[in-house]
Amino acid sequence: MLTLTHSQAAFKDAQSLMPGGVNSPVRSYGRVRCTPPFIASAKGSSITDIDGNTYIDYVGSWGPMIAGHAHPRVVKALQEAAARGTSYGAPTLLESEIARLIKSIYPSIEKLRMVNSGTEATMSALRVARGFTGRDKIIKFQGCYHGHADSLLVSAGSGAATFGQPDSPGVPAATAADTITLPYNDSKSFNRIMDGFGNDIAAVIVEPVAGNMGLVLPEESFLQALRSQTQAHGAILIFDEVMCGFRTALHGAQAYYGITPDMTCLGKIIGGGLPAAAYGGKAYLMDCVSPAGPIYQAGTLSGNPLAMTAGIETLRIITEDPSYTVRVTAHTTTLTEGLRQKAAEAGVAVCVHQSGSMFSLFFTDKDVKNFADSSAADQDAFAVYFQSMLEQGIYLPPSQFETCFVSGAHTDDDIRRTIEAAGTAFAAVASY
Ligand code: PMP
Repeated sequence: MLTLTHSQAAFKDAQSLMPGGVNSPVRSYGRVRCTPPFIASAKGSSITDIDGNTYIDYVGSWGPMIAGHAHPRVVKALQEAAARGTSYGAPTLLESEIARLIKSIYPSIEKLRMVNSGTEATMSALRVARGFTGRDKIIKFQGCYHGHADSLLVSAGSGAATFGQPDSPGVPAATAADTITLPYNDSKSFNRIMDGFGNDIAAVIVEPVAGNMGLVLPEESFLQALRSQTQAHGAILIFDEVMCGFRTALHGAQAYYGITPDMTCLGKIIGGGLPAAAYGGKAYLMDCVSPAGPIYQAGTLSGNPLAMTAGIETLRIITEDPSYTVRVTAHTTTLTEGLRQKAAEAGVAVCVHQSGSMFSLFFTDKDVKNFADSSAADQDAFAVYFQSMLEQGIYLPPSQFETCFVSGAHTDDDIRRTIEAAGTAFAAVASY
């Protein structure tokens, strides 16, 4: 039996200090009806709470930790960087180095700007698209999450979906009115809107592999429709690869599916666990950004030397060895095949999706292609599964609207133990 005595006390205390006791909603475990373990440390594929429980971690800080926690190279580089000062608010060589590294992996990015979060990246990319086109309206897809900027917090996934708040109070109606939302993977509705209003659309923003309604894979014809319609109507196509970047494949979803967007947003992995994200794309778009151009965007800590250092070292780790991401993907495939098999043995209907080193599991007998499908999956069954996995030392994201992440630090034994635990969890689901 898992003991969470210290976490329970810490959570009670935290609730008097922070809304819901947390600094980001899903961490509160609201939908899975248990106390969130408070974390003391993490190393490699494992994470340890303040009660001394150690788990195999598939949250990976929600994606950044592709090289595993506290990777010795990242830790050493950070220690050395910290000794040289933690922030200067002035140009550094590190910023050019990470920009060059990112450009070499993502050739569609000709120029980029570093920011501190995925939210800032998508918000800024949209500003560029609007400033460049002189148009206000944007299209996003239901269940995609692009951070919490006003114009994007409409039909949003991730925590907004988990807590039933896909449209948040506090977003001005006029702002929301400029955001057209359409079902993911529905080329027909998209084509209809673009045929009717395409010349009013500044940007189409999409998670090319959607990870915030659980993991939902794109139909290739859908991504192709986004590209051809935006091109035909002079709208900017923005791929939000904050989550799927470097994971669907090393060179991202855009390389995997062979579709080149005008702009790309990246985050998570490029900060190596520190706050960093970026937006970039065609040079003629990025040269509209201040001080090169009139579209304003700035940041006191943007390009922070510690964040750049962790990002550079992480990107080096996953690129120096050309088989790194391929190996993590292969581990993930072993895991997803094992999950399907254990579910079948227990007689539990599941839909397991994988894209590179990401995966998720829905309790449904249907394929999940959009937010409506994902919302129709059995969330009570998910809560039973989640609790059983946690009890057995497997740390998963506490919502069916989230995605699991595998790292290069996960071992064969981690994967084997996880599949075994899933067998027990599915048996609990079958009898709940
Ligand atoms: N875009 C996507 C696809 C994301 O998954 C997220 C966060 N999970 C964001 C944007 C927002 O990033 P952040 O939380 O760093 O603001």
